[in-house]
Amino acid sequence: MHSILSLLSYLLVLSNFSSCSPSAVSGNSKDAPATESKENPYYSRTDTSVLHVPDAEWKKILSDEMYHVARESGTERAFTGKYWDYAGIGTYYCAVCGNALFKSDGKFSSECGWPSFFETIRPNSATYKEDKSYNMERVEVNCGRCGSHLGHLFDDGPPPTYKRYCMNSIVLEFEPD
Ligand code: FE
Repeated sequence: MHSILSLLSYLLVLSNFSSCSPSAVSGNSKDAPATESKENPYYSRTDTSVLHVPDAEWKKILSDEMYHVARESGTERAFTGKYWDYAGIGTYYCAVCGNALFKSDGKFSSECGWPSFFETIRPNSATYKEDKSYNMERVEVNCGRCGSHLGHLFDDGPPPTYKRYCMNSIVLEFEPD
């Protein structure tokens, strides 16, 4: 009798242990952040209020690569970003602050090596600034919420806007529909 009880309690322990493992795994994946951002208290996909966060603060939050593009107007090398030839259906957000920037139906296949769009989601998704660096006259595109540098705007896009938002993948974050 005693040995049967021992066997039963042993089996009970085994079944508890095996049922525990899968729930622990799913718990971990649920807790994983939906974004690649580290701890970022300014990130929101619903709050559209304009942010005024000093670069010193962003420096603590963003990865070095993202900080260089977003806050120092850096440009990633052509054909190296994750979205230049990506064709998923969904929404592109600012990877720095979560602001909605583009829909995939505003993206077009460009040979330039950077993700290219012909329109933003909302007129105030982005702000624009004259950029005369590198002896060129270009229009800089910044995030309408956090002011981060996203890329440049050119007039050689497809209809209906004939615009080309030439963006850096590292400051974009894609979410499928
Ligand atoms: Fe932003």
